[in-house]
Amino acid sequence: MTRLLIIGAPGAGKGTQAERLSASFGIPAISTGDIFRHNVKNETELGKQAKAFMDRGEYVPDSLTNDLVRDRLAQSDAQAGFLLDGYPRTLDQVNELDDILASRGKSLDAVVLLTADTDEVVRRLLGRALEQGRADDTEEVIRRRLEVYAEQTAPLTDVYAERGLLVTVDGLGEVAEVTGRILEALEARNSAN
Ligand code: ADP
Repeated sequence: MTRLLIIGAPGAGKGTQAERLSASFGIPAISTGDIFRHNVKNETELGKQAKAFMDRGEYVPDSLTNDLVRDRLAQSDAQAGFLLDGYPRTLDQVNELDDILASRGKSLDAVVLLTADTDEVVRRLLGRALEQGRADDTEEVIRRRLEVYAEQTAPLTDVYAERGLLVTVDGLGEVAEVTGRILEALEARNSAN
């Protein structure tokens, strides 16, 4: 169980859970959002290109995102497995990831869908805005991020469900409780296969 994705609306808690699952499985958690933010902060060429999209709550173009992930997955620490957080988010990215894995004779083990209702995610994101001051955590941009998620990313769960990979977990509750639920759900799926 080493090649995993975690999908969920902004504010569902993907990043927090990804860190914990990464520690538990001993695989790197790779967050495209974190990588983009790091590049924006350091004013790299990629950061300059990504910033305007991120500030509006739009997705960074697939071409940039796909190249970034292809490079990241080629690094040595990702060879034993990985947990991707925030990628893929579009159908084009699903196809790219399939391609990257297939070219190495690999495939995904499971896709965790973390659910949370809209009121709760907006509440969490506004709280995080106060704590961390992320540029895209204003109410207007949060609303746009949720729309883009619903339009472009939510449909991807059907693709993974059809492949029998989807594991849906309720993201509401204490952080440790949610981690426990994810680990249990992955184990249950593993022993059923
Ligand atoms: P959230 O899931 O809360 O929106 P992230 O940190 O995962 O936060 O992503 C922040 C922003 O980074 C996104 O709104 C988007 O602009 C950009 N981004 C991250 N991952 C991708 C991706 N796979 N494709 C396109 N843009 C992305």
